[in-house]
Amino acid sequence: MDHFPIFLATRGQRIVLSGGGEAALAKLRLLLKTSARLIVFAPTPDPQIESWAAEGRLTLHRRPMDAGDALCAKLFYAADEDAQEDARTAAIAKACGALVNVVDNLHDSQFITPAIVDRDPVTIAIGTEGAAPVLARAIKADLEERLPTTLGALARIGKGFRKLADALPMGRPRRDFWRDYYFTSGPRAIAEGPEAVRPALDTLLNDHLSRSARPGHIAFVGGGPGDPELLTLKARRALDEADVVIYDRLISPEILELARREALMIDVGKEGFGPSVTQDSINALLVEHAQSGAQVVRLKSGDATVFGRLDEEIDAVDAHGITWHIVPGITAASAAVAGIGQSLTKRDRNTSVRFLTGHDMKGFADHDWAALARPNEVAAIYMGKKSARFVQGRLLMHGAERNTPVTVIENASRPDQRVLSTTLSALPQDLADAQMTGPALTFYGLAPRAAAQAATQTPLEEMA
Ligand code: SAH
Repeated sequence: MDHFPIFLATRGQRIVLSGGGEAALAKLRLLLKTSARLIVFAPTPDPQIESWAAEGRLTLHRRPMDAGDALCAKLFYAADEDAQEDARTAAIAKACGALVNVVDNLHDSQFITPAIVDRDPVTIAIGTEGAAPVLARAIKADLEERLPTTLGALARIGKGFRKLADALPMGRPRRDFWRDYYFTSGPRAIAEGPEAVRPALDTLLNDHLSRSARPGHIAFVGGGPGDPELLTLKARRALDEADVVIYDRLISPEILELARREALMIDVGKEGFGPSVTQDSINALLVEHAQSGAQVVRLKSGDATVFGRLDEEIDAVDAHGITWHIVPGITAASAAVAGIGQSLTKRDRNTSVRFLTGHDMKGFADHDWAALARPNEVAAIYMGKKSARFVQGRLLMHGAERNTPVTVIENASRPDQRVLSTTLSALPQDLADAQMTGPALTFYGLAPRAAAQAATQTPLEEMA
């Protein structure tokens, strides 16, 4: 770090600038946000600078700078748009003891002005030491978009409320209160006018005070296969009342929308930015939030009790004496089988159905494969895309029919649901060709109803 960022107190301080063109204007626009005394030297000033002078916002001298003109100045900007003149004025300012910035000349500058995101009194300065102005602009644009424009006003009002908010226990409860204020209730209240903010703060504080008095609790909620209409009423209610929602990758955005607006949403299934959050950190998050008094919804796809690592999380919260309950959800197999118009069990076909995970297939014992390979068996295979070839190999080895129907349902219950109807022998190739990227459930021993009917009807039609 060659440049160390600081925030300079400007009230009553002199800041001198030499120049009257575009470069001067750009810097002055920033400097006018401060409470410094601005002095500008410009033989031919831009009319805008003249009107600022007329309004008393700066002092304008319509002449080139002379020795001693920057005496007592803290900062000096050479914005002459002329290298020679910049060097001359910078030398004068340096002799006066001011810190010097030569506009667009990093080498001769003693300080540089960062890109600024202004939500006064919240100010964010971004610098790249001249290495990547494009990057600084991109970061600024990103932050401008992310931070409500009312943040500054909210910060000023919030400052006056700090003492009252100290009634909340330190740590999480207080942090949650302020986060709620700055990002949810504050922006909403100020949209109705600044006078609405203070009452909103009072309500919010009462809400948080009563919340911090009640013990935390965790609801392990099955979020279903993706279609929000497949949520149970209990799941909806839990989402409605949640302080914190900790959710997995497969939870659809439409379902997240249903959570209480003030709820803290924590994504523990991130992909793309490196590995997803570890089970240990998820357990720790659950404990931390519940202990701070939050009503936590641990939202898992499908049914929380099916391949959801639920017991590990229950053990972790039990160890801390935290109360919990389970809200059942519609598991992917139920949604997928509905999508192909079939039953999971059927008299005279299969009276049992296995739920398998493609992940643990290696631990599947030989007698399990042998049982599954018998005619009319049905299995719902979760997370089975990668293991398709392995499963096929084992089943064939144990005598399964090559043309046993296999159906893969991708994105079951969602608008982009796709159904691949194939056979055990063609499964790996057909699956590779289909290039499925969404979650997919594989039914071994089941064909979509229409395909199944066509298969049994064909001989009849041929006879006719
Ligand atoms: N608890 C979940 C399963 C979690 S394991 C449940 O009960 O459904 C994740 C696997 O579930 C995925 O790899 C996929 O096989 C299956 N799955 C989840 N949602 C699905 C969907 N909408 N369509 C098809 N399969 C899905």
